[in-house]
Amino acid sequence: MNKLTSYTIKEIHRAYRDKILTPTSFVDLSLQRAKQTSELNAFVTITADEAENHGIESEKRFYIEKKTRPLDGISVGIKDNFCTYNIPTTCASNMLKSFVPTYDATVYSRLRAAGACLIGKCNLDEFAMGSGTIDSIFGPTRNPWGFDENADDWRIAGGSSGGSAVAVSSGACLAAIGSDTGGSTRNPAALCGIVGLKPTYGLVSRYGLIPLVNSMDVPGILTRNIEDAVTVLNCVAGPDDLDSTTIKRAYKPVDLVDIDLSKVRIGIPKEYHCEGMSEEVLDTWRYVADILEKEKADVKAVSLPHTSVSIAVYSILNQCEVASNMARYDGLEYGLRTNEDNSTEELYASSRSKGFNNVVRWRIFAGNYFLLAKNYDKYFIKALKLRRLISDDFNNVFNGENSVDLLLTPTTLCDAPLYSDFVSKHNRDQCAFQDYCTQPANMAGIPAISVPIRLSKNKLPLSIQLMGPYLSEELLLNVAKKIESIVNFPELNSE
Ligand code: GLN
Repeated sequence: MNKLTSYTIKEIHRAYRDKILTPTSFVDLSLQRAKQTSELNAFVTITADEAENHGIESEKRFYIEKKTRPLDGISVGIKDNFCTYNIPTTCASNMLKSFVPTYDATVYSRLRAAGACLIGKCNLDEFAMGSGTIDSIFGPTRNPWGFDENADDWRIAGGSSGGSAVAVSSGACLAAIGSDTGGSTRNPAALCGIVGLKPTYGLVSRYGLIPLVNSMDVPGILTRNIEDAVTVLNCVAGPDDLDSTTIKRAYKPVDLVDIDLSKVRIGIPKEYHCEGMSEEVLDTWRYVADILEKEKADVKAVSLPHTSVSIAVYSILNQCEVASNMARYDGLEYGLRTNEDNSTEELYASSRSKGFNNVVRWRIFAGNYFLLAKNYDKYFIKALKLRRLISDDFNNVFNGENSVDLLLTPTTLCDAPLYSDFVSKHNRDQCAFQDYCTQPANMAGIPAISVPIRLSKNKLPLSIQLMGPYLSEELLLNVAKKIESIVNFPELNSE
């Protein structure tokens, strides 16, 4: 483990100022770490030239211009479904294997404007459809926790932003960007023992994020600690003319303080206590509720009655939007074009069948089925109505009688599964199990965060999730910070 990456961004900046470390040497260490840990398969592309150039620019700003930016000399990774100018952006799919964007996603241009140094593009499930980072044309990503290079099996990284989570947890980057449609930032963060933040829908621009489910997608932030998540959020959030769904109000940066929990009300939604949740996860959930109570928070049971239908609703809406989003890949304008075909229709069919994996094809079929004229009301419209009820459940607990400020739940139902067990299940069942606690926040558009708490019997991370009302990032992150400071989650390899 590269000890330097256990420092916070602010500590690294202090070390730069004291010249104990320089941006170029740190970027070098990050690149070395990314290469040394290549068997984890966190990166699809390592951008060594960019990283070195960005490091040199930061170094100039530190020592010559003396005008530093908040992420100068900070190594970052970006999930490979965010467009990056002149750097391949593959979505881990044959369809986009040779796609090189001509523009930057807003998240990336803002990271760069803040001085961040790009180490590489991170692995994912094809088009971000999954919860394990096992379905990538580049092969699966491996969780560094419990990893033994001589063993046949390993723990999954979670997904679909598993590459971003492993880039951070293995010490190749201080921060990484993921995307979160149903939990893809929080889930791998939880399984890899780092922080995963899903901001309010529209707080961070989706411009240049290759869409999965436009009405739920949001760029996510993965870091080793809460302070760094705040530093990154404050650089990337805020209105963007290039994304009409961003919140138009000027962004007020989050401020971390030592919060007094005696005025904070925390809800424990009873429906999240579901079948299949491991005893260790339940214990960890109780443990954090007890911590909050000891800190004088008002902790009480609440109800989100539509939680049980949430997964079914999520998956119908997901597949409908997927069917529509994927229609752009027709072999003509973007991506893979097979050339052994005669008619346009054949070209279209063969490009799509060779370009997409089974998971993507299956979702396109299912989505088109739900959208057929005869099924539209029965599935799509019904799912939209239920989505509203799920969202209303959150409104009621946050604003109704006997309301609470935040909700506390587990992030995942168990610690990181073994690859061999996980891969034996259908993608639909993997997601239904892994996303149970995370996808409701996407359907309601509210912010949520996964915080690592302690290790399981298998010595793997166990995490909890906090959710809050629309635009409650400041409270969410301050309470998360309090929990982080009390639980003292161990470093990887420190046991
Ligand atoms: N596992 C979920 C899915 O496959 C979530 C994906 C995501 O958040 N990108 O749809």
